Amino acid sequence: MEKRELLYSGKAKSVFTTDNPDLMVLEFRNDTSAFDGKKMEQLDRKGLVNNKFNAFIMTKLSEAGIPTHFEKLLSDTDALVKRLDMIELECVVRNVAAGSLVRRLGVEEGIDLNPPTFELFLKNDALGDPMVNEYHARSFGWADDATLDKMKELTFKVNTVLKQLFLDGDMLLVDYKLEFGIFNGEVVLGDEFSPDGCRLWDKNTREKLDKDRFRQGLGGVVEAYEEVGRRIGVEF
Ligand code: UDP
Repeated sequence: MEKRELLYSGKAKSVFTTDNPDLMVLEFRNDTSAFDGKKMEQLDRKGLVNNKFNAFIMTKLSEAGIPTHFEKLLSDTDALVKRLDMIELECVVRNVAAGSLVRRLGVEEGIDLNPPTFELFLKNDALGDPMVNEYHARSFGWADDATLDKMKELTFKVNTVLKQLFLDGDMLLVDYKLEFGIFNGEVVLGDEFSPDGCRLWDKNTREKLDKDRFRQGLGGVVEAYEEVGRRIGVEF
């Protein structure tokens, strides 16, 4: 499948049309951003690592019965995906307190959250992706009841599958962000799943193995992503 026109260029990925109106090509670039695009850098090999990582995870999720946009890998940095009508909300599940939750509520990083929490954020960099609730989503028409229920159900199902997958590699899935879209009337997982959009800690040392290494200037960002991948069986 050939790339045709550039449809959209995001902070880390570019999206291209193909000859098939139902399919697009996602190109994973080396660009890495944090703080709503205020910190930007190119990290060698990151596009390749995230593309292969995402393909591996999407395949696992699909095998577990979760509908995803992923069709197949096209090259080191490109993947063929379904063209979804994206819902402009981010779904976040947290198993352990970290990041904005810690800042917002003044709780200690590392507290186990049992049961895990579910949060919604509006995708809007200019506003700093503000947290919203289901009433906002319904009132502003971002998602209806049935869609919200489905997004929540799928987001928790992802938790069951991935918590165990990472635990088998001696890692804690601290939190993660998912984005969904609609394809033929069905709610389908889109965007990507990679260490750019989740937090993963070594289970024993609690060393951070995700994008917090970039946010906090800890270095070894792509090396950590590859380490995570190797531990769960991704071949780069
Ligand atoms: N996240 C993301 N994109 C965003 C905001 C958050 O992928 O625009 C991910 C982030 O990597 C983490 C989870 O969602 O795994 C929860 O993020 P949090 O709300 O703690 O915000 P942050 O501390 O990243 O600002």
